[in-house]
Amino acid sequence: MNTAVQIASDVQHGASSAVHELANAMTAIGERNEELHVFLHVDEEGATRAAHRVDAAVARGEHAGALAGVPIAIKDNMCQRGVPTTCASKILEGWRPPYNATVIDRLLAAGAVPVGKTNLDEFAMGSSTENSAFGPTRNPLDPSRVPGGSSGGSAAAVAANMTPLAIGSDTGGSIRQPAALCGLVGVKPTYGLVSRYGLIAFASSLDQIGPFAKTVTDAATLLEVLAGHDRMDSTSLPEPSPSLVAHVNDGVVGKRVGVVPELIEGADDDVVDAVQRALGALRDAGASVVELSIPELRLGLSAYYLIAPAEASSNLARFDGVRYGLRVDGVDVAAMNEATRTAGFGDEVKRRIMLGTYALSAGYYDAYYGQALKVRTQMINAFARAYRDVDFLVGATTPSVAFAFGEKTSNPLTMYLSDVFTIPSNLTGDAAISVPFGYGEAHLPIGVQLLGPGRSEALLFRAARVLEVADGRS
Ligand code: GLN
Repeated sequence: MNTAVQIASDVQHGASSAVHELANAMTAIGERNEELHVFLHVDEEGATRAAHRVDAAVARGEHAGALAGVPIAIKDNMCQRGVPTTCASKILEGWRPPYNATVIDRLLAAGAVPVGKTNLDEFAMGSSTENSAFGPTRNPLDPSRVPGGSSGGSAAAVAANMTPLAIGSDTGGSIRQPAALCGLVGVKPTYGLVSRYGLIAFASSLDQIGPFAKTVTDAATLLEVLAGHDRMDSTSLPEPSPSLVAHVNDGVVGKRVGVVPELIEGADDDVVDAVQRALGALRDAGASVVELSIPELRLGLSAYYLIAPAEASSNLARFDGVRYGLRVDGVDVAAMNEATRTAGFGDEVKRRIMLGTYALSAGYYDAYYGQALKVRTQMINAFARAYRDVDFLVGATTPSVAFAFGEKTSNPLTMYLSDVFTIPSNLTGDAAISVPFGYGEAHLPIGVQLLGPGRSEALLFRAARVLEVADGRS
């Protein structure tokens, strides 16, 4: 499959058309969607209309946008007008949003063609897509294994060559972890860089939307389209979209890269080895390597699993059987609320709501939620100190390559541990990228994570590009 950048250029110059590219995507989806369960809904009609609009713009001699005619897959926790949006939950079955998320409007304005909504862990809570109420997604590289999660469907769409691009959301790793497990570039942008308007909230202080792509340049191109101030999101950064693509080949000469033992601790040998080789590649490209320790990293997981459920318990209160989707009747309103939520939410979502409600309850607020917020502040300070000595950090994205179905479902804690390396950047609000680098067990891809301070995306893309070249991917 061509890259997104190539497709957009071909469509703009008449060597291809948006309608033709959409037909290719539909063929690929038709071939493997049943086996892999990537899309919960394919919007062929809406996609066809969008493709015709792009072709008409090109025919009029207009510039059709940076993603002209590029098919893209959308995680099903983002609102698209008139298109079913479920968060992979029974509680939203049948709901069609009356408005577009800001990212959808930006994609359409850039000529992209949204082809459908992808599977996820229910309400983005999970790391394997096994928590979807509609059944799991399979990893296209090895269908006996998970694609990661929670944005597993979006990662699988790109890995299976159904669409060259996809978008996901990352609250504790849900873009970077599936990107690593499916051999893709995945980006968790700086908090506030991409508008959350129309993203169904999981944990509002941690959620960010970001890109999946096969190449660094495609991911940078997509992030440029998604980013920039939006007055509909009060946490949106005031600046316009940064310039990323123009700098991807600028290299890392003279940059200081930090290696942190806590960002590989407990990872499998093949993953540790890939991180070491990535450091070697960055050094060969002219960066200097600095060793440092951030012990606060060890507290991240515990703080996250109080803060994220606390926010989720509040955000998910709106699904009450009155305003959206499912309603199960009862003798009075309270009974209806209870029956709807009992039938509509799956086990993991209920677990998070209970954990969060407990952490926020009067007698325990200070002991749990309050403590977690203090840890979060310590983490923010620790990273800020580290970034005085280094420009960016390198570590593992995940402790292992893609794991088998059922391997981590019996004990929620082992599933939570898959996010130990990705959660810190959500707590600090900083930027991070996962880039494929080498292969591990069973020839499955390994993701190396690059972490930087807020608004360091341009530098992280440059470093990711160095690794992409060193890994012989282009
Ligand atoms: N796996 C983590 C969780 O279950 C992160 C999910 C996410 O980033 N949406 O909370």
